[in-house]
Amino acid sequence: MAQSHDTPPASASPLPGEPERIMVSTRRVACDGGGGALGHPKVWYDMGDDTSVECKYCDRLFVLDPAAASGEH
Ligand SMILES: [Zn+2]
Repeated sequence: MAQSHDTPPASASPLPGEPERIMVSTRRVACDGGGGALGHPKVWYDMGDDTSVECKYCDRLFVLDPAAASGEH
């Protein structure tokens, strides 16, 4: 019995082993893993003098948007 099923394109998924990058406009970011299987308690991170911070729970990388950073006065 042969059943045909379509394989949905995985273009929306990040590459395996590639941490998800999230562009943010402030150095202070909150992460809760986005819920679901990767969800975790909400935590706040402050980049300080850096321009990126990695979530210790879900390995997401928050990157400060250069355009937003240069707009700070
Ligand atoms: Zn996280």
